[in-house]
Amino acid sequence: MSSYRYDTLENRWVIIAPHRLKKPTLKAHDMRVDVVKCPFCEGNEALSDGEIDATASDPRRAKNAPGWINRVVSNRYKAVSIEADPSPLQEGLFSSRGGFGAHEILIETPGHDSDLALMKKDEVEAYLQMVRKRLVDLRKDSRILYISVFKNVGILAGETLVHPHTQIVAFPFVPLHIDEIFQREESYYRDHSRHLVLDEVSLSIAEGDRIVWNEGDFCLYAPFASGNPFELRIAPRCVLASLADAAPEQIEALASILQRSIALIKRVLGEKVAYNMVFRDAVSNDPLSGFHHTFYLMIVPRLFGISALESEDQISINPMPPEEAARLYKERL
Ligand SMILES: [Zn+2]
Repeated sequence: MSSYRYDTLENRWVIIAPHRLKKPTLKAHDMRVDVVKCPFCEGNEALSDGEIDATASDPRRAKNAPGWINRVVSNRYKAVSIEADPSPLQEGLFSSRGGFGAHEILIETPGHDSDLALMKKDEVEAYLQMVRKRLVDLRKDSRILYISVFKNVGILAGETLVHPHTQIVAFPFVPLHIDEIFQREESYYRDHSRHLVLDEVSLSIAEGDRIVWNEGDFCLYAPFASGNPFELRIAPRCVLASLADAAPEQIEALASILQRSIALIKRVLGEKVAYNMVFRDAVSNDPLSGFHHTFYLMIVPRLFGISALESEDQISINPMPPEEAARLYKERL
């Protein structure tokens, strides 16, 4: 069973999860896990833990059976667990609490070698609809205060299984970094009566040289202070706090722009590029947090390992100006 521990000096929570030592690790030479043994491949449903939800064209499809478009299962090596006691414990300087939460895996496609760029557009839409559905469902548990949605592709991005999948982790608190984002957005709104993310998007559109593509309500751009080479951000041009609140036409536009983004980073940086994708969502049961937030999505290619200056001091050194990155992306649209 895992637990959260608070680092008083560094002001951050960590998850101590010793059972994850058993999680298989990936070496460069076994990037291609045998399809026969892949727990996420169609036909191998028995190799993954219980099915939580699935999208299937045949409504009569049985649970844990083939015939799905995407599928959500419980993470076998979960960092947190819904059975744990979330009550906090204080022993002098040291704060901890049981590792309560949910850790789910959204298997994006039955295709082992597929990805968001290769999937059909309606499959990418079904993927985003399923992310939306899980956010709505997990929010029903009043103990959950924040839901982190992310994917790791390639060893440099922390991937341990090749088959396309997204992780959904629900916490009984708002992570400190996210809480700081929410506070900055709130203070910006107080000072300017406008949303920080919407202003970043509209000013970037006015300047033009970091914009890669616009579609429906969404804009794809290289952020002004990109911490990593070729970093991309997708943000709406209208108020949308959470993907859970997105209308069907917004999901459709987001699917299209997301697919274009992944295709672009592969076209510019190579088929095997490692990247992290992070949904910055406001889904929360705390009405005071995330009130002025606007949803956005970050796609961060990982071209080098992370140095201590970046991981510990959180100061990035980026050799690629975002204006140049946007220009190179636009050349390959
Ligand atoms: Zn597979």
